[in-house]
Amino acid sequence: MYPLEDIQENYRTFDDNKIIKIALNESKGLRKEVLPILKKEIERRNLNLNLITWVDCENNSFSEKETNKLINDISNLTCWKCKARSNSVQAFEINTVISLLILCNDSTKTWILCSSCGQSKKWTSLLTTLFLGWWSKKGIFLTPYTLIKDITNLFFQNKKSDKMLRELIKANTGTLRSGSLDDTSLEKFVATINEASE
Ligand SMILES: [Zn+2]
Repeated sequence: MYPLEDIQENYRTFDDNKIIKIALNESKGLRKEVLPILKKEIERRNLNLNLITWVDCENNSFSEKETNKLINDISNLTCWKCKARSNSVQAFEINTVISLLILCNDSTKTWILCSSCGQSKKWTSLLTTLFLGWWSKKGIFLTPYTLIKDITNLFFQNKKSDKMLRELIKANTGTLRSGSLDDTSLEKFVATINEASE
């Protein structure tokens, strides 16, 4: 572990862009004692002070209790796709393999949907993989693996969703903390995840 004095010395030599990059993307991976050094450096250089707010939000991790409440609040949201409110909004991992001759396209996407929209998406991707996955060298190996994984996951959907939501909440701590954590801001968060998968 580097002594703090050395880290401080190092940070002084970084250019502004590097400091901004660390503040925006990497502060969560830093040791807690390094955060004041980063924040001081932002101040010293007169960079945008919102960066400090962002670093604070990113590093204000959700407790177990807060995470459970967020997962529960998300499950009660209106479904992003069908707009129904069925208290069943979950995270789904959707895998699809499509191949043709030398092309093989395998994708893993995350969707947060009500159980009925999620299951229907899951079956569509399963059938797509089943019919279109095999037609390349890579596809021959990847297709059965993906199908078995997906079918197994169907039985553990609740557990899988819980794990995925915990990871998403952790990965988006800063974004969530910057919002008000009410239904509207959670719906916006869900929309961002789904739109990235579209
Ligand atoms: Zn739905």
